[in-house]
Parts: sequence; structure tokens; C-alpha cells
Amino acid sequence: MIRVGVNGYGTIGKRVADAVAAQPDMEVAGVAKTQPNFEAHTAVERGYSMYAAIPERAPLFGDAGIETAGVVDELVADADVIVDATPSGIGAENRSLYASYDTPAIFQGGEDASVAQVSFNARANYDDARGADSVRVVSCNTTGLSRLVAPLEEEYGVEKVRATLVRRGGDPSQHSRGPINDILPNPIEIPSHHGPDVQTIFPELSIDTMGLKVPATLMHVHAVNVTLESDVTAAHVRQLLEDQSRIYVIPEGLGLDGAGKLKDFALDAGRPRGDLWENCLWGESIATEGRDLYLFQAVHQESDVVPENVDAIRAVTDSADAAESIERTNRTIGVGL
Ligand code: NAD
Repeated sequence: MIRVGVNGYGTIGKRVADAVAAQPDMEVAGVAKTQPNFEAHTAVERGYSMYAAIPERAPLFGDAGIETAGVVDELVADADVIVDATPSGIGAENRSLYASYDTPAIFQGGEDASVAQVSFNARANYDDARGADSVRVVSCNTTGLSRLVAPLEEEYGVEKVRATLVRRGGDPSQHSRGPINDILPNPIEIPSHHGPDVQTIFPELSIDTMGLKVPATLMHVHAVNVTLESDVTAAHVRQLLEDQSRIYVIPEGLGLDGAGKLKDFALDAGRPRGDLWENCLWGESIATEGRDLYLFQAVHQESDVVPENVDAIRAVTDSADAAESIERTNRTIGVGL
């Protein structure tokens, strides 16, 4: 059993903990939180041992009726792997803590690539992370683009990717983010930083990205143009993408015309928290002209990185190969619509 500690139990951390708990070869060693809020109470109800992320705040947990198993250092010492899901920048501050206990660490996409030895996407570069001491699971947008680029690169060769990312302003609980009523080129600089992030997975890839932010919380939507190295047909590309376990090619006729209905679909399907772990790619949008491919896809920012974190844990412990890990993760949490 791989004992996994989760430091930072917010949007990503709580989902990763639940996904880890569902794995037959893993268990949750505990979770570390800064404050005894509603998520702390849920964690305890789910049976996760609670550790104080900031030792001086440990008494607050007792005051709130939450028993702690110790402080974060003890969790790091006890765990075989730590998943750091703290806010952007805090992971880098925590790096020396994990190193001091020789505990391999999985960081998230809000950190700079330099935080870890390897930037990671299971479909694209699992083997690069096998046995590594530190791995960064790339951001939600980079995960979505990497899952798309990997099969296209293998099957046809990619000359150039151009992607426009229409980004949600914040997650549903982030009431301080925005815009509330605006449409922002964001970042205004072109190309945006997203392309270089994809290049942490595909160093040779030519990719330019542009970003916008809109008043939505549901998902990001990507408008993608890929110039391939050979002529393709839409039908051939569609078949290739339908064969990818973490891409859901949305069939015509279901009325899934946007992120809102996709989220409803996930809730109706009984998905935990209405999560969509797969890239949701509109089949009807797949269009080709010579070597040019065009399509729209949506990625659920709160959950698409969750199966990737589970695979990253198997990679750093070198306990399964890519195909085994991806299959096991998919089966146990229910990836595949
Ligand atoms: P979040 O704010 O929802 O959760 C972070 C949690 O960490 C909170 O519970 C916070 O209280 C806690 N925390 C703060 N300081 C801490 C500390 N010193 N020690 C331990 N815990 C601490 O953030 P999130 O959205 O889950 O993001 C976490 C990471 O995942 C970031 O790097 C982010 O960029 C990345 N990420 C986020 C999304 C997304 O859309 N939410 C998607 C992909 C990747």
C-alpha cells in the first residue's frame, strides 16, 4: 500500500484524497489543513486523519471539535508520497520540508516548473516521472492540451498548435474573483504563458496560445487549430480521439451544447461533486482542411488533474507502468462517459 499524505485540502486536494482512497494500492495517510473549516469537518467524516498545516494553529482544530493526529511534519514523515495541493507559490515554500524527510512530492500546476524535476501528464510523459523525487502535475489547461496533443503527435506529427483559451474567471466558491460582467483578454500579452507550459511536457512542440477570462465558473473552453504534418480527415481524427480514455468526444444529438449542460450531465450521472475528469470535446466541431485540424473542447478545471495526480503517485513510486496505472485509475474512479 502506498501511503499518501495530502497537504492543502481545498479544491484539488480534497478531490485527490478521495481518488487516492478509491485506489486498491493506496491509502490516505492523512490530510493537512490550515483551518478547521467545513472541508476539515468533511475530511474527518470521510475518515481521513487530520494534521495541522501550521503548528501554531493546531489548537483551533481542538476548539472546533476536530481531533488532530499531529502536525504536517509528522504527516510528511509518515507518508510514502506527499501530494502538495496548497495555493500557488506555497508548494515551492514546502519543497524543503518534503526533501528533509526524503518524501517524494507531487506539486500542482500553479507552481513554476522549476519546483520539481519533471512536469507531468500521464498520457504524454509518464515514464519521465518514474522514480523521480518531485513531480509537477501541470495545470488544468495544460493537462487538457497535453491529452490532445499526445495522440495527434504520435499519429500524424504536429507542425504547429494554435489555441485560444476562454478561461473561467474563478472556481464556484471563489467569490472574490472575476470578472463579474466583462470579457477580458487575459493575459493581454500574446502568446500567453500557457504555450510554454505545454512545452514543459513537449519540449519540441511549436505552440502559440491566447487567453481570455469570462464571467463563468464552470469550465474552460479551448478553440484549437493544429497544423499536422500530413493530410487528415475529420473522421480519422475523431476515431483517434474517441480511442483516448481521458477524452470524451461528445456525441451529436445529446444536446450537450455548452459547459452548463456538461456539468448537469455530470451531476445527473452521479459524478462526485459533478466532476468531469475527461476533456469534453465536441465531435461536431472536429473539422479538417488539408493538414489543418480545428476543434472545440472544454476542461473542468477543478477535476481534470485529479486522475493525473493518482498516476503521478504510481510513477514516483515506480509501482506500475503507464498503461496499468491509467487503466487502474480510470476504472476505480470511473473515468469514461
Ligand atoms: P484552494 O485554495 O482551493 O486550496 C488550497 C488549500 O490549501 C486551501 O484549503 C488552503 O486553506 C490550504 N492552504 C493554504 N496555505 C497552506 C499551507 N501553508 N499549508 C497547507 N495548506 C495550505 O486551491 P486549489 O484550487 O485547490 O489549487 C491548489 C493548486 O492546484 C494550485 O497550485 C493551483 O494552481 C492548482 N490547480 C488549481 C486548479 C483549479 O482550477 N482550482 C486547477 C488545476 C490546478
